[in-house]
Amino acid sequence: MYDYLIVGAGLTGSVIAHELRGRGKSVLVVDKRKHIAGNIFTENISGIHVHVYGAHIFHTNSKAAWDYVNQFADFNRFTNSPIANYKGEIYSLPFSMYTFNKMWGVKTPEEARAKIESQKRESGITNPANLEEQAISLVGRDIYERLIKGYTEKQWGRPCSELPAFIIKRLPVRYTYDNNYFNALYQGIPVSGFTEMVNRLLEGCDVRLSCDYLTNRSELDGLAGKVIFTGQIDSYFGYSLGHLEYRTLRFEHEVMKGITNFQGNAVINWTDIDVPYMRTIEHKHFYPGLETDSTVLTHEYSAEWRPGDEPYYPVNNERNNSLCGEYRKLAREKCPDVIFAGRLGEYKYYDMDAALLRAVEIAAQIS
Ligand code: FAD
Ligand code: UDP
Repeated sequence: MYDYLIVGAGLTGSVIAHELRGRGKSVLVVDKRKHIAGNIFTENISGIHVHVYGAHIFHTNSKAAWDYVNQFADFNRFTNSPIANYKGEIYSLPFSMYTFNKMWGVKTPEEARAKIESQKRESGITNPANLEEQAISLVGRDIYERLIKGYTEKQWGRPCSELPAFIIKRLPVRYTYDNNYFNALYQGIPVSGFTEMVNRLLEGCDVRLSCDYLTNRSELDGLAGKVIFTGQIDSYFGYSLGHLEYRTLRFEHEVMKGITNFQGNAVINWTDIDVPYMRTIEHKHFYPGLETDSTVLTHEYSAEWRPGDEPYYPVNNERNNSLCGEYRKLAREKCPDVIFAGRLGEYKYYDMDAALLRAVEIAAQIS
């Protein structure tokens, strides 16, 4: 018997497991995948810690979150500065003076503001109600059309006019020559990969991999006093109220022997709708100074989630948020002792720092 069964060995499940172990609880962690670490899983390929499920850069303004992860890994000083490729033209991301200069030839913040203001005025938007209107208000129509529209519609599979405005607010808009993608005081990547970090978090816990809770439910429930579930909340209830929507991703990995530097940057965003993938990652650039005789690339494709696919992004629109509310209500009525946590359990677009702070909070509340 264990005090707790944690379903999911991703960051959320592993942080909760670590916290509970620290309070003297016994913990069994199960994951249906054949490895730990969930979506932050990294695998050593040709001497490079490859981000198997897409680019993951730890970034935060929370000193508590930064100090927390640094207990389990040595972080490098990687700063994310992706570039956008639109029909062969290269632009700097996020939206900064470098981008405005390339787009319009403007050189000062004042000129850039004037250009954006005039494009915003021409569009007649006063109170942005969706992602398209929000984007045009923030950076003008030219940038919206070249750097946002195609990329966003590939990522979410919906017109920008039907997406919530908050998604684009994740990106900084800067009137300075600073192309750090994140507004974060602390930023980096574990030099030995995220998997090693999660491995340390899970020390002292029993872990069972390739084990789907939903198909081994009665046996697993019998092993523990309480369940913490970090999988999809709708899957827990057999989708009885209907499916929540997600976006899934497909990753095409390519090892290039004998090539040491293929694209010159860790992340290239393909912002033209005609390029089928969204991003190409060249993993070795996540580790500045790393010397290897090959390189590994990953092309990332986005698609609508269907049952059986991996759910990567919750689609937090009105319909889904309200359905998730119904599932939460069902959880309170049917299984008040089960804790639903993490990106899938709470159906929230959590970055790693938010996921880990929430996990620490949950562990403190329940133990
Ligand atoms: P997950 O990592 O999804 O873990 C859930 C685990 O539960 C999975 O391993 C799954 O297999 C398991 N599971 C589910 N159902 C069952 C079941 N029935 N039985 C057993 N196991 C089950 N955040 C950042 O801060 N910086 C970034 O740069 C960044 N980039 C990202 C890029 C991509 C492409 C994606 C998708 C996300 C990115 N994130 C980033 C967010 C980050 O991945 C999440 O914050 C973090 O992984 C959340 O961890 P989690 O444990 O909640 O979820
Ligand atoms: N985005 C964009 N063009 C880009 C990069 C991002 O339009 O080149 C938009 C897109 O709508 C995306 C949002 O900004 O959904 C947030 O991007 P972020 O990189 O934060 O998304 P992530 O993949 O990290 O969840």
